[in-house]
Amino acid sequence: MTDTHEPIPAAKPVIGEEEIEAAVRVLRSGRVVQGPEVAAFEAEFSELVNMRHCVAVNSGTSALHLTLLALGLGPGDEVIVPSFSFAASANAVRLVGADVVFADIEPDTFCVDPAAVEAAITPRTAAIMPVHLYGHPAAMGQITAIAERHGLAVVEDACQAHAASLDGTPVGAFGTAGTFSFYPTKNMHSLEGGMVTTADAEVARTLRLLRNQGMEQRYANEIVGANMRMTDVSAAIGRVQRAKLEGWTEQRIANAAYLTEHITAPNVVTPKVAEGARHVYHQYTVRVRGDRDAAMARLAEAGVGNAVYYPTPIHRLKPYWEPDQKAGRVWELPETERAAAEVVSLPVHPALSARDLERIVTAVNALGEHL
Ligand SMILES: *Cc1c(COP(=O)(O)O)cnc(C)c1O
Repeated sequence: MTDTHEPIPAAKPVIGEEEIEAAVRVLRSGRVVQGPEVAAFEAEFSELVNMRHCVAVNSGTSALHLTLLALGLGPGDEVIVPSFSFAASANAVRLVGADVVFADIEPDTFCVDPAAVEAAITPRTAAIMPVHLYGHPAAMGQITAIAERHGLAVVEDACQAHAASLDGTPVGAFGTAGTFSFYPTKNMHSLEGGMVTTADAEVARTLRLLRNQGMEQRYANEIVGANMRMTDVSAAIGRVQRAKLEGWTEQRIANAAYLTEHITAPNVVTPKVAEGARHVYHQYTVRVRGDRDAAMARLAEAGVGNAVYYPTPIHRLKPYWEPDQKAGRVWELPETERAAAEVVSLPVHPALSARDLERIVTAVNALGEHL
């Protein structure tokens, strides 16, 4: 139980006794690099994504980067990405030398708008990268149909959406490949880490080569690869967290339901959930219609941690904005711009107490008169 006057953090990564014991067990074994723990973590994670092949790597960004390499993407190719995401989504595209084409989002789910995706397709389009933002699944039925019609790969950025699903199918099981992050603030973590999921055995094998210098047999390098391996220490922590994920997810969903039921401030719009979607609330994100900075300051004063994901859409970040300006390229992304100006994420993590939830609601509803 949190003390009444103690601030409620926006996120609370868990490094508990079980995680520490798992790490110590591996450290004491002396076998710390990619080995049996990584293999076990991959096998256990595959249960989350309809038993697809799982390949563990050292971060979510590496998962995206290696997936695009494994699919053979490079210079001359275009990948359609929502601008309303973490920069890693677009960075992976640029890291392989391909071009990012930004698409706008649906206002209700904050995920990429399938109509905008279809409108963005050109003869150079090679892949679509939907992002399951905040833990809400993107409209995968429509997106995979568009991809099939146009012969495109689909790379799901599921870095915020472990155990989310749409019509019963888990995210990471829709696309050509899915990617997950195990950064400490995500719904589960491995200190740092990532996972690629795919139904394609050939893509999985290429990913295994790419993460390990292009080798399956030591010193018999088959292709040019990197070192993006996960350590067995990380994997052991990831396995502990994987076993707790479902309970934590249920708690996030229950916390979100409480907030949505009790937040009544007229200028605060609570998050919506698409039909058939399981939203896993990596973030509980509201729209504030009014002075957002003032609202955030008042919440902080009341001890309610809060943050904006993301204040600057990717297309406005320097490495994207400057080359586009030079090329005279202008993106029309009105829903992205509006979301970036309005969103605020409130605490929803599983460590919140009933008292914490009450305090969050009281603080948000008190904004009513001040917006
Ligand atoms: C966290 C995140 C990533 C990158 O994951 P890392 O493990 O931090 O490299 C990519 N995309 C999205 C949407 C994320 O939230």
